[in-house]
Amino acid sequence: MIIIIGAGIAGLTCAKYLRDRGIESLILEASDTIGGRVKTDKQDGFLLDRGFQILLTAYPEAQKLLNYGQLNLQSFKSGALIRDNEQNKFTKMLNPIQEPTALFSTLFSNVGTFADKLRVLRLIIETQNTQEEIFENKYQSTLQYLQNYGVSDKMILQFFKPFFGGVFLEDELNTSANFFKFIFGKFYEGDAVIPANGMQEIPLQIASYLLKDAIRFNTKVTKIEGNRVYLENGEKLYGEKIVLATDGLTAEKLLGKAQNLSFNKTTCTYFSASKSPLTEKLLVLNPDRKAKIHNLCVPSDIAPNYAPTGKSLIAVSTQGNVVEDEKTLTEDIKKELITWFGIEASTWQHLKTYHIPQALPSLNQKNKEIFPLKISDILYQCGDYTAYPSLNAAMLTGRKVAEIL
Ligand SMILES: Cc1cc2nc3c(=O)[nH]c(=O)nc-3n(C[C@H](O)[C@H](O)[C@H](O)COP(=O)(O)OP(=O)(O)OC[C@H]3O[C@@H](n4cnc5c(N)ncnc54)[C@H](O)[C@@H]3O)c2cc1C
Repeated sequence: MIIIIGAGIAGLTCAKYLRDRGIESLILEASDTIGGRVKTDKQDGFLLDRGFQILLTAYPEAQKLLNYGQLNLQSFKSGALIRDNEQNKFTKMLNPIQEPTALFSTLFSNVGTFADKLRVLRLIIETQNTQEEIFENKYQSTLQYLQNYGVSDKMILQFFKPFFGGVFLEDELNTSANFFKFIFGKFYEGDAVIPANGMQEIPLQIASYLLKDAIRFNTKVTKIEGNRVYLENGEKLYGEKIVLATDGLTAEKLLGKAQNLSFNKTTCTYFSASKSPLTEKLLVLNPDRKAKIHNLCVPSDIAPNYAPTGKSLIAVSTQGNVVEDEKTLTEDIKKELITWFGIEASTWQHLKTYHIPQALPSLNQKNKEIFPLKISDILYQCGDYTAYPSLNAAMLTGRKVAEIL
């Protein structure tokens, strides 16, 4: 029997591709549900993703694996609203390729220089169809790459840091430029979407291809020794092959390695509002990273099921913030919301806060360890930490391990 440890995207994908070849596996999952970092809670009629996240329809692995139609994907408009705190306004930057009518307003907006916009256009064209092989290139930080590309400091500060700070969950843009080029291309090749009924629909769909008893929940693995898997409850299981599909931190522990991986963290604060403060399905970026609102969006504008009738769901992300005092953070966010949207925002009700200290394995110069998918003839590993921090990487490595097996 093949044992897979972890029912996140990587473990589920691996099990699905094995099943396609007629090989059944048993997934051992520590928690009581599937999805790993892709989960959705239901609260008072709202759908709360555990941390704001999106799927890019151009992800090659997602295209292979998922049935987009059944997920009923709902799209963001391609672009962003950039907050200008000094002038107390928002500037719209739309993707000129998907929104050609916005070309002029985007080119002449006060975000970056005119030459910057032309460079960004060139970058969009150059990064289309970027393949995963790009990850084999030498490390360079995204910041360095953009500076070498000639992008001005103003454009980096106003657009790239808030936008990709939100994707990488780190504001210095120390993340590998290879990942940046891949993601940047995918943003413009397709749509940024969420499933109509929450992000967890993605792992649920992958799991629907598996047998009902293929996953054992509340089953935490504490040790792996040869073909033996030791469970927290004292049980021992035998696996002809064992696939480690946990998060990077647990993988390091189970492999008896030093804890070298570092992670980018985020906090997501949800509010209920009586109506959306936005008129377009855009993400709002705040270049002022000292503020508590780094990015904001209204998921229920994109996918109405995210809020009950007559309500809107507001999601605020704060990157890199280890917040012990949730009450103070909520109050600070509330004050900023009032300056952004007026006194109406004072009536918004706090729904829930998710602190996610290990949201993404950092892909910077420090985390340059290579994680081979095949560790031995018995043991294999997959997951975002083995490649790059994205749903696509979890799917890719899950598929590759299934193919090796
Ligand atoms: C807030 C946030 C925002 C994100 N935004 C995006 C985005 O917009 N786009 C994008 O592409 N990606 C995004 N990501 C990244 C994406 O969610 C992850 O890369 C992906 O889900 C990782 O999947 P995985 O299977 O590798 O790991 P995980 O999801 O971590 O799954 C590991 C599984 O192993 C289980 N496990 C752990 N230890 C044990 C044990 N000892 N025994 C048994 N089971 C165990 C865990 O419970 C979990 O279910 C985001 C992530 C977060 C947290």
